[in-house]
Amino acid sequence: MAIHFHRSWMNEELAMVRETVIRFIENEMLPDDEAARKRGHVGHALWRKAGELGLLCSDIPEEYGGGGGDFRHEAVFYEEMARRSLTGMNASVHSIVAHYLLNHGTEEQKRQYLPRMARGELVGAIAMTEPGAGSDLQGVRTRAERHGDHYLINGSKTFISNGYLAGLVLVVAKTDPAQKAKGMSILIVETENRPGYQVGKVLDKIGLKAQDTSELFFDNVKVDADCLLGGEEGRGFYQLMGDLPYERTIIGVTAAAAMEGAYEATLQYTREREAFGQPIAQFQNTKFKLAEIAANVTAARAYVDRCIEDLVAGRLDTVGASMCKMWASDLQNKVVDECLQLFGGYGYMNEYLIGRMYVDARIQRIYGGTNEIMKEVISRAM
Ligand SMILES: Cc1cc2nc3c(=O)[nH]c(=O)nc-3n(C[C@H](O)[C@H](O)[C@H](O)COP(=O)(O)OP(=O)(O)OC[C@H]3O[C@@H](n4cnc5c(N)ncnc54)[C@H](O)[C@@H]3O)c2cc1C
Repeated sequence: MAIHFHRSWMNEELAMVRETVIRFIENEMLPDDEAARKRGHVGHALWRKAGELGLLCSDIPEEYGGGGGDFRHEAVFYEEMARRSLTGMNASVHSIVAHYLLNHGTEEQKRQYLPRMARGELVGAIAMTEPGAGSDLQGVRTRAERHGDHYLINGSKTFISNGYLAGLVLVVAKTDPAQKAKGMSILIVETENRPGYQVGKVLDKIGLKAQDTSELFFDNVKVDADCLLGGEEGRGFYQLMGDLPYERTIIGVTAAAAMEGAYEATLQYTREREAFGQPIAQFQNTKFKLAEIAANVTAARAYVDRCIEDLVAGRLDTVGASMCKMWASDLQNKVVDECLQLFGGYGYMNEYLIGRMYVDARIQRIYGGTNEIMKEVISRAM
């Protein structure tokens, strides 16, 4: 039996958004997914189509070209992609970038970039991680040095989602290398025809095959001084910390939806596959496993839905969002692994959704702050 949840925050309008999302996924994303996984990116045209349908920046105010909705509108899009393990279009990183601009940008910066991001003309990326600095972000070495009316950026970044297609990169850099957190700033870099800016190869990952995770290199990249996010040096670390609940909740949202997708696929498969003269769904072990999985999926749905409501209401703090990210991504890995087991050898094939879900799940415990860092954040607040 499929689990039918009462979604506390859904309403008629959001149900229509969900229908639009599903049509977009079925018509535009699914037919190209296998090719996108081979290419390592989804291409610009898909981003523009998503923009035309109003699926990007749906929670950015209309005056900046966004949809004027809230996080629920975003969640609907993330959920439907995660249920199908469609990971090529990293709309969540795109949204996170839009939120940095909305929450911390100057009025001019918002007007200059947000409408183009909402239309999918500019794909957004955020470049924090470096070969020598991941969890310990204060250790970034990329340097942005002020020279009169411009900055020169030097350094390299790695593991940057949307890196290959990005037209707009928020670069976390040191404006004052003598200081740690207070020496950090975020620079807005439009990448097209930007001398000194170079995108490395799309990285060869075990999962997220259609996602263009890339290295970025900055060699005396010159940007105008008004490309400093918010117009004040030394604010970078605080800007990053302020937006963490939004980013971490997204990972919880995708984890819960992926578990639902995995459960449904497993239910269907175990009813069709036969061994020893009967559907494998009839073995007691299969039934009991599916019962456990159903209970876990139900608990995740209830908890993550509450986190979504709290985020929309402005009640979800960094600790709450860190718990959501950590707990939901840990459970996702357990549930997807147990589902895969019930597929036998077919579960190990890339052709099967459950196989792709398995490798795609693994990163959820690492990016957005590792789950060990989540435990640090949670325990510090105790
Ligand atoms: C597919 C993918 C997409 C990504 N997208 C982006 C992106 O768009 N932008 C971006 O900037 N970055 C991105 N990242 C980078 C990601 O956020 C980092 O990989 C992550 O934060 C961990 O950093 P690290 O890889 O340097 O690991 P490290 O920091 O070296 O950590 C290694 C291990 O040590 C543990 N550890 C570290 N510090 C502590 C501590 N204090 N206590 C206990 N354990 C600790 C970690 O939990 C981990 O298990 C992405 C990474 C991947 C793989």
